[in-house]
Amino acid sequence: MSYDNENIFAKIIRGEFGCIKVYEDEKTIAFMDIMPQADGHTLVIAKESAETLPELSDDGAAACIQTVKKIINAVKIAMNVPAATVLQLNGSEAGQTVPHIHFHVIPGSILSAKSHAREMADQEVLKGFAEKIIAALD
Ligand code: 5GP
Repeated sequence: MSYDNENIFAKIIRGEFGCIKVYEDEKTIAFMDIMPQADGHTLVIAKESAETLPELSDDGAAACIQTVKKIINAVKIAMNVPAATVLQLNGSEAGQTVPHIHFHVIPGSILSAKSHAREMADQEVLKGFAEKIIAALD
């Protein structure tokens, strides 16, 4: 399947569309999900142009997992929860709505989380969570 360069996460990577960023390195970016399933729901994306995990290079996958590990630790501290869920959807038939590889880090249990990509959150509230996550990353 060909990669869609106009998907929203590709635009975020190119700086054409904004996000509430909590972390960035050479190969990944982490930012707040605008329709969070729980307070502190953070997305980790690869900077590489890949739609699903099998299409991502091993190097890109390793970089994503390293960032996911950092974000899990940070959201547990920032949101004061004992656990976090990692969710990663491959293909629209699996429920993937943005065709660019990403990992969801959802504080707490998926069993008590809200529906997927359903309800927009207040941007100021998200910024508050982002500040706490950034502080917990330091
Ligand atoms: P997927 O369904 O592809 O696994 O997840 C895509 C996620 O991206 C959803 O949780 C959705 O809320 C989030 N999302 C969709 N559009 C945007 C956007 O423009 N900015 C941010 N920060 N998140 C988005």
